[in-house]
Amino acid sequence: MIMADTTNIAWTDSTFNPWMGCTAVSPACDHCYAQTLVEGRFKRAEWGPGKPRVRTSATNWKLPLQWEREHEAFYREHGRNRRVFCASLADVFDNEVDPAWRADLFRLIAATPHLTWQLLTKRIGNAAKMIFEAHADAVFNHSASAWPWANVWLGATICNQQEADRDIPKLLSVPAAKRFLSIEPMLGAIDIQRAINRMPWQIGGGDAELHWVIAGGESGPHARPSHPDWFASLRDQCKAASVPYFFKQWGEWIPESGMDRAMRMLDHGQFDCVHVKLDGSYHTNAPDDHRQWDASDVRMVSVGKALSGNLLDGVKHEAFPI
Ligand code: SF4
Repeated sequence: MIMADTTNIAWTDSTFNPWMGCTAVSPACDHCYAQTLVEGRFKRAEWGPGKPRVRTSATNWKLPLQWEREHEAFYREHGRNRRVFCASLADVFDNEVDPAWRADLFRLIAATPHLTWQLLTKRIGNAAKMIFEAHADAVFNHSASAWPWANVWLGATICNQQEADRDIPKLLSVPAAKRFLSIEPMLGAIDIQRAINRMPWQIGGGDAELHWVIAGGESGPHARPSHPDWFASLRDQCKAASVPYFFKQWGEWIPESGMDRAMRMLDHGQFDCVHVKLDGSYHTNAPDDHRQWDASDVRMVSVGKALSGNLLDGVKHEAFPI
């Protein structure tokens, strides 16, 4: 089975999965899409500690080489190299993956210099050591160039301030051509500068730069709503720091104020709604709910990903690193 090819993830062109399977490590993993797909529908790998990760087929591994061969045509059409999100159904820096597989992956990355590899992880704390090992193998066996490689963007997924404080300094301390954050699903307000300020001054130095921020709400069954002010704050923080901001999607829930006329006409009480507080808690307006209302509470409506779109205060934010 080909575990790659085209994707509808708007911030990339293609996904490549070198292996499948993972273990939940964050509140952001609670409704893991990959687990539903791979464990539930494909029945190809199980999730959890001690469960074997499953390497994808040799045919699948040839796909990036094919993209590399086609790179000139891609460049002519798009004016840039193909972006490849690696691994949407696993985690590149999962410590339960055979290090030899990761070494193979890094050799593949070295062999495809005209692809832009987006390595996104929820385990950024493992990245420095694992990159060092996999890179050393690539250098030793295949004379690969010194790290960081120009075709690798390194990203950390975070979902709240606690993870930002813990993981942004780790991300910024790993050398990479570009570093990015994926804040999806966003489950709380995040002050990026607060996290950066927690870095020991000697780490990273002048190179400790963030090049891109992606954010979005959760979709699918049981999706949790995100307060719109969190996304707006990220937008403003990115603007102030001249960091490109990509607001990918509202997801399941959209603020009622952001619904267009057609959606409002559809909503004759058929969509669920909740009131979301700035701290992320949310509640219905059922008569037996006696919580206090705040002026900053926002009424959110469950319209589904297909309708919710990605307008933030009426504007699309789809910037990429330069
Ligand atoms: S890290 Fe990603 S693939 Fe792994 S459990 Fe969490 S959401 Fe799923």
